[in-house]
Amino acid sequence: MEKDIKDLLNLDLFELLKIASDKKSKYARDIHICSIINAKSGLCTENCTYCAQSPFNKAKIEKYSLLNFDRIYEAASKTYENGIRHFGIVTSGYGYPKPNKEFEEILNIIVKLKSKLPELEICASLGILSEETVKLIVEAQISEYNHNLQVIPEKYKSLIATTHSIEERINTIRELKKYPIKVCSGAIIGLGETMDDRIKLAFFLKELDVDIVPINVLIPIKGTKFEDKNYITAIEVIKTFAIYRIILKDKIIKFAAGRETIMKDFQGLIMLSSANGFLTGGYLTTRGRSIEEDLQFLKELDFFY
Ligand code: SF4
Repeated sequence: MEKDIKDLLNLDLFELLKIASDKKSKYARDIHICSIINAKSGLCTENCTYCAQSPFNKAKIEKYSLLNFDRIYEAASKTYENGIRHFGIVTSGYGYPKPNKEFEEILNIIVKLKSKLPELEICASLGILSEETVKLIVEAQISEYNHNLQVIPEKYKSLIATTHSIEERINTIRELKKYPIKVCSGAIIGLGETMDDRIKLAFFLKELDVDIVPINVLIPIKGTKFEDKNYITAIEVIKTFAIYRIILKDKIIKFAAGRETIMKDFQGLIMLSSANGFLTGGYLTTRGRSIEEDLQFLKELDFFY
């Protein structure tokens, strides 16, 4: 199967995109849009190579502890008023193996948000969890949990981080999959990984049966090891999305970071052929387009949202 996929890469680009687009129109017609809030920034212990929030990098970012309910509610209400129905609460750091005070506070915030905005689907991205904390977050009524694998397990240590292991991340995903919530887990591309690595990761995500696959294109941030690196071309990004659609045919494939800044004019091609979702309104430490601009973009592509 992996061999068949690799053969597709020898096709003319538009033939490849036609195969991806056929899968998309058959299995993945709905558009899935979400917006996130960086609810706790910096103050992390981990050494993720690409991340501006890591204390091992020298990027200049705003650092703050967990935002209070009012701040998060304000952002969630704005998202809701703009017609977006998926709102993600993202915190920096290793995660929550035990339900400490901060974790309890996040649970309270989620429960309060659900009572005030019952139609808003709440997503959380809080890092590594245990059996105990997964159960608690599911009971708080989240709809989705994001936990990216980023790269294949064999390259996690060399490309991403050594302060925690990929096994801890995989265990978190397996624990989440025991519950009826959507598990969102994807990749960051452009770190120097090969196309073979990306294909292997897509098959692994399929095996884990994750529901949503966000793909981030590395934004080289000043102060990180990748600040002056440019490992990936626009064509490779387009091909990666097409291959992911072909392998993960019925999953939601989302274009996350890098959509506007790295792919610029090519993002429409990816949305037409392969992806059926994206992140709008900015990322954790970099800005994106406004929700209004993105909704206009969808209209121009003749997507119904
Ligand atoms: S990706 Fe998360 S865990 Fe890794 S350095 Fe950034 S904030 Fe910390």
